[in-house]
Amino acid sequence: MNLEELQKIVYDAGIVGAGGAGFPTHKKFSDKVEQIIVNAAECEPLMMVDHHILECHLQELVDTLNLLCDVMGAGEAIIGIKGKNMHLLDTKVVASLEGTRVKIKEIPDIYPAGDEVVLTYETTGKIIPEGAIPVMVGVMVINVETVFNIYKAVNNSTPVVEKYITIGGDVKEDITILAPVGMKLSDLLASAGYTDLKGKSVVNGGPMMGKLVNLETDVVTKTTKGLLIFPTTHGIIQRMKMPVNTAIKRGSAACCNCTMCSDMCPRHLLGYNFEVHKTVRAATHGDVRDVNSFTQNALCCGCGVCSVIACQQGILPSKIAMEIKGSLARHGLKRQNNIQPDHVRPERASRLVSSNKLIDRLGIRRYVKSHVDAKMDMKFTPSAVYIELKQHVGAPAAPVVNVGDKVSKGQLVAATPVDALGTCMHSSIDGTVTEVNGRFIVISR
Ligand code: SF4
Ligand code: SF4
Repeated sequence: MNLEELQKIVYDAGIVGAGGAGFPTHKKFSDKVEQIIVNAAECEPLMMVDHHILECHLQELVDTLNLLCDVMGAGEAIIGIKGKNMHLLDTKVVASLEGTRVKIKEIPDIYPAGDEVVLTYETTGKIIPEGAIPVMVGVMVINVETVFNIYKAVNNSTPVVEKYITIGGDVKEDITILAPVGMKLSDLLASAGYTDLKGKSVVNGGPMMGKLVNLETDVVTKTTKGLLIFPTTHGIIQRMKMPVNTAIKRGSAACCNCTMCSDMCPRHLLGYNFEVHKTVRAATHGDVRDVNSFTQNALCCGCGVCSVIACQQGILPSKIAMEIKGSLARHGLKRQNNIQPDHVRPERASRLVSSNKLIDRLGIRRYVKSHVDAKMDMKFTPSAVYIELKQHVGAPAAPVVNVGDKVSKGQLVAATPVDALGTCMHSSIDGTVTEVNGRFIVISR
């Protein structure tokens, strides 16, 4: 198989970054990749999807990494996993890797170990230049589930129609399940037995970077990784609900310019010329003299360390930074003068945020279970699925079916052109197309 053939298989299967980013995977493949890094950090607390796949499918992951190395001409593939999770790996498979190009690299139990800039540094010692993509340092970063999806596409011709999801938080039992893409999240939670949501809110994703779920409209997508249930009064929910204007008002009243938000920022600590306290000061005081205070936010990964760990005044620098980053992207504004850091800041070692510290600061210690069951035998049969046309970075997919068409599970229903940034969508059930609108293709049984 050559690079173009693999890209076609991955595009046809509709594979995008399953860890949450949703970048079309075939567009990452390049003959310039020297090292493939598998993001097995699973650094957001309470998330267990990658744990399950690593535990049950390590050999399939290794086979796929060997294929990726062959096709792209990469010299090695490194699985970056926290030491505390090494016990998940099949010891026979690990032993078989001795001296091969697929390597296991223990990374520290810190947050955000899964940020691609941090992960690249922790696994290879390389620092991705500001505003650049990993391939500029010869690296491709790929999530565990994404690799497994490639395995299924190559070996079984299976497109992405199901998604691994952890359900947890303020519930008796946390579980990991395999859910049909397009199933309403409210139906999924009810079918899985999570019916008592009175006084609770649901987060799609982790407690740091997740988003509040709208149970009326939100559905499973190719990037849904966790559904975490917390009391609506919990600080996590209050932080997510806070409008950016409130953060700015708080900043203008309470920011003491202590610079801790910048001092603790993982990207600043890796040498990036990024100081978010300057953003807070400029945004809260209407100070427009230094344009860099605004454009630097293109470097923010939204990890939330500045808000949850650093700031003692309850201001949310990450909210302000991500709002500005989004605005820059919407207006097509790019930051100039990106630099290549030549060293990490010496204070980094003493400012790393351990997972334990993060769990305590988030106030979720009581929600951490000693065991999370993977309930792969739990089957879901939604009466209808809502296949979103945009579940990924890039252009939305265009429908290739019409109302009244009969479709079967795995059948193509929408696609972006192969040369554009985007991917394909498939039906996750057998049924009939009952509606096509600007957001969904609705398929009913
Ligand atoms: S969210 Fe805060 S800590 Fe994280 S990268 Fe952005 S500015 Fe830095
Ligand atoms: S940590 Fe909080 S108080 Fe300190 S500079 Fe940043 S936003 Fe202001």
